[in-house]
Amino acid sequence: MKRITLPGGAAVPALGQGAWHLGEDPVQRDEEIAAIRRGIDLGMTLIDTAEMYGDGKSELLVGEAIQGRRDQVFVVTKVYPHNASRRAMRTACDGSLQRLRIDVIDLYLLHWPGAVPLDETVEAFEALRQNGKIRHWGVSNLDPQLMRSLLAVPGGKAVQTDQVLYNLAHRGVEWDLLPLLRRHRIPAMAYSPLEQGRLLRTRALTVFAKKHGMTPAQVAIAWLLAQEDVIAIPKTGNRQRLEENAGALAHQLAPDHLRELDDLFPPPTGPTPLEMI
Ligand code: NDP
Repeated sequence: MKRITLPGGAAVPALGQGAWHLGEDPVQRDEEIAAIRRGIDLGMTLIDTAEMYGDGKSELLVGEAIQGRRDQVFVVTKVYPHNASRRAMRTACDGSLQRLRIDVIDLYLLHWPGAVPLDETVEAFEALRQNGKIRHWGVSNLDPQLMRSLLAVPGGKAVQTDQVLYNLAHRGVEWDLLPLLRRHRIPAMAYSPLEQGRLLRTRALTVFAKKHGMTPAQVAIAWLLAQEDVIAIPKTGNRQRLEENAGALAHQLAPDHLRELDDLFPPPTGPTPLEMI
């Protein structure tokens, strides 16, 4: 497994697991837990959830899935912007810890920018870190301008990642955000790497995948794995699709394959506002 080292020294797998919508359907529960566990077996030990997902149901499911395997897993969860203040973050963090059934969150992210000033959010994160409730903190959905503001506030340089929408069909971040992050040696975390499944149904991707003996999901993931300092977190609640996605690790895209994908899914030619899902 390719590993990415965060600025704080943690080495995490470049391929992790997303957990949005997991835990919402009781009928799917056992299969979803089995899928997460299979992912851990295959080295996809970074698991991304949020207090928002299913109103805590995703964290509850992840908590159950990692029982007995806590030490193998790097748990990422996110705080709502309206909970990103000094006082509210403490309570929100305790709620996440309880649902996840863990003592410490490995990486705690601000889910998206909100009304609480970034310097207060950084202070709140740092207080949790000093109290041993989180190991590291980071952000999500911050555009270059906000990222620069964050890096300028006291303690802001302790940020470990910016988790953003990034996949073959949404490459806007390559223009300005990824270069900015790279200058500061901050890895990006690519969310919705399969465009929530929509990308897999595009003709361009299905034709490319067939031609190169891969599945569309494997191409989408292998393409992200070929990017420097990017962590991809595809979500699936199904063991078979999990194994298919993990199969991307066996396919290193050659430079001419990457050029072919550039023709099919062109990189940005100018700045675009940061897109969000
Ligand atoms: P993804 O791009 O990961 O796509 C997930 C969808 O694709 C699901 O419907 C899944 O269905 C399906 N799928 C997965 N693998 C396959 C496959 N091999 N073949 C066919 N279909 C497949 O979307 P997400 O939006 O879930 O993004 C991934 C993660 O990123 C989230 O789960 C979450 O953790 C994070 N995220 C963060 C955001 C933020 O604001 N910070 C915003 C959005 C996501 P099934 O489960 O049935 O396999």
